[in-house]
Amino acid sequence: MKILLASFETLTGLPELVGYIFIFTFGAAVGSFLNVVIHRVPNDESIIFPNSACPKCSNRIKFYDNIPILSWLLLGGKCRNCKIPISIRYPLVELLTALLFVLVFWQIGFNAFLPVCLIFVTAIVALIFIDAEHMILPDVINFPLLFFALLVRLIYPLFFGSSYFSDLQIFPLSQMETYPVWMVSLLGAILGGLVGGGSLWLVGEIWKRLRGVDAMGLGDVKMMFAVGALLGWRLTLLTIFLGAFSGAVIGIFVIARQKDKDLQTQIPFGIFLGIGSIIALLFGEQIVKWYLTMFAA
Ligand SMILES: [Zn+2]
Repeated sequence: MKILLASFETLTGLPELVGYIFIFTFGAAVGSFLNVVIHRVPNDESIIFPNSACPKCSNRIKFYDNIPILSWLLLGGKCRNCKIPISIRYPLVELLTALLFVLVFWQIGFNAFLPVCLIFVTAIVALIFIDAEHMILPDVINFPLLFFALLVRLIYPLFFGSSYFSDLQIFPLSQMETYPVWMVSLLGAILGGLVGGGSLWLVGEIWKRLRGVDAMGLGDVKMMFAVGALLGWRLTLLTIFLGAFSGAVIGIFVIARQKDKDLQTQIPFGIFLGIGSIIALLFGEQIVKWYLTMFAA
């Protein structure tokens, strides 16, 4: 979805580099907030109060020790008070979020779709890390993400027509040109949600009948319903393909390294679906176009 209406430079009069520095800093700050979300949401704790504290000595972390990425480096990865090591996951989440924000800015450009992509990526990063640590994809993130996707799908077409949603120009939505674009866009969201959530649910059901085990968590189904609602059916299929492919490769690697060859090993699939969805959001159109010229021309 590369829609460059105007560059940051022509819109603000500031050099492009200023935009990149700003978006990196903003991303690092969001990453710092995500650390709190990843840590507290699975335990049903408030993400606002209280301020972060050291898990060992309960010392409240001062604002000057809470600067994304830098504080961890300056403190040498230790609590200022009790010197207990602080996980490298904290600065890594901040750095990753900052780099992803830069990637989004570079690929999407400075336009109305930028905040949508930044919010989507933020939610997905939270889901990826919570799934990695707790093997769950919480409703408190999945449902707001779905609501957000439907809202964007409803409101954006009123201002920008079909320009941000590629699925509106392809079958079956392309057949509905006589209907208002917001209605077609919402239908596209529901279709994308059904393709995303529905296909995962179906795979899980079939697996359950055949093997008698729950292979697919409902969290993955809800997450992919929300992802599908924003991305539309085509980029959602790409997301599932990328997620299944990378998940299978990593899964085989993990199982091969295990001592007892237990095929029931649980792999947090949400991680791979999340990575797939970010790739599909940012590069999906190019990937689909490349695929079609390579294999279907
Ligand atoms: Zn401490």
